[in-house]
Amino acid sequence: MLRNDQLEQWDREAFFHPSTHLAQHARGESPARVIRTASGSHIEDRDGTKFLDAFAGLYCVNVGYGREEIADAIAAQARELAYYHSYVGHGTEASITLAKMILDRAPKGMSKVYFGLGGSDANETNVKLVWYYNNILGRPEKKKIISRWRGYHGSGLVTGSLTGLELFHKKFDLPVEQVIHTEAPYYFRRDDLDQTEEEFVAHCVNELEALIEREGADTIGAFIGEPVLGTGGIVPPPEGYWAAIQSVLKKHDILLIVDEVVTGFGRLGTMMGSDHYGIAPDIITIAKGLTSAYAPLSGSIVGDKVWKVLEQGTDDNGPIGHGWTYSAHPIGAAAGVANLRLIDELNLVANAGEVGTYLNTEMQRALGDHAHVGDVRGEGMLAAVEFVKDKGDRVFFDPAQKIGPQIAAKLLEQDQVIARAMPQGDILGFAPPFCLTKDEADRVVAATVRAVEAVLG
Ligand code: PLP
Repeated sequence: MLRNDQLEQWDREAFFHPSTHLAQHARGESPARVIRTASGSHIEDRDGTKFLDAFAGLYCVNVGYGREEIADAIAAQARELAYYHSYVGHGTEASITLAKMILDRAPKGMSKVYFGLGGSDANETNVKLVWYYNNILGRPEKKKIISRWRGYHGSGLVTGSLTGLELFHKKFDLPVEQVIHTEAPYYFRRDDLDQTEEEFVAHCVNELEALIEREGADTIGAFIGEPVLGTGGIVPPPEGYWAAIQSVLKKHDILLIVDEVVTGFGRLGTMMGSDHYGIAPDIITIAKGLTSAYAPLSGSIVGDKVWKVLEQGTDDNGPIGHGWTYSAHPIGAAAGVANLRLIDELNLVANAGEVGTYLNTEMQRALGDHAHVGDVRGEGMLAAVEFVKDKGDRVFFDPAQKIGPQIAAKLLEQDQVIARAMPQGDILGFAPPFCLTKDEADRVVAATVRAVEAVLG
């Protein structure tokens, strides 16, 4: 039974929700969920029902909910200086300190941090920097960006184009022509089931080489990828993938943008996903875990090679024509400083690695042999279960059956555990806060088994 109260009525009348079936919501055919408070790994709705949030919001509340230290830092900053801009050399103690803290945690060879508000605008910045870089170097043709099918990089014009998911292109006239896509490093969904993991990596490399050959290396500015595919299905790359891809990019003088919006600041059990896979980025995208979503803040970490050219560009052309009013917003920066300190103090990166590995092992043990579970995979505090109609021949369910969403709904209804039905495929995704305990991990696994059994037997 849906409640018909004032708040719900306003919600349906006034609120345009992202990633929502707008018509069904307006007609009252789907629930309006009003979340009131949260603590640790749990959120609570206005009726007092508690849910174990095994997706940390949108894989962003990494330190967990209700952290007083971050709330206090935000309040103190708002009282002292709620806002000043960062144009023409202005900064605040919080924004300058945070830039330094980020570089201290970044891979070698990174030079400066530009601050934005969310992952989408940070990637928008990154694409502009690649274009600027190649113009300054006198290579105006070298502008296309290669992304991967199933990559997720945002939902703006260019970033929605980078995103390699059908839903984000359809009816929006995307992708724009400067963005081209290559094979997703998704071994479980390979076309040729006889391929070994090594052969599949060679296939991904061949596909990339062929694309570069077709388009011409002198027309390609950058390649963008997440260390682990996130929204596209939570898919760790096959062994050797990143080393092989990087050598192709190097050969063709193509910059590498590593999108660490999900993996940055600990989710894989290492400070950055680049550390985990031995990636040497030219530009890194950060957001989500930078503030654990206590305030909106993102960043583009620019490497030495690109930075030198940006400096040269401004010597030749004057100040860089790029910036948002809210770049390096002091409240976001204060949240970032407090958040990164807390991650260190509570040793949360190590906990993400340890409890994440436990969650993955237990999930595999509990569901790996189920007749309709094709794949259980993950890395650090990221896990996914992918469902199939026929395991032997790897036949997928008809998407119209909405198996993934049905299982996520059962999980919520039966055991008040939140997982995410990933948007393309029948994939249940988990990305809990780093403070998850082993007991909570056990609860997530047991509830998932019950939900899978309820829907698939
Ligand atoms: N990049 C990655 C890897 C993401 O997962 C996301 C969001 O989920 C984004 C970029 C976009 O970030 P935002 O939603 O903050 O614009």
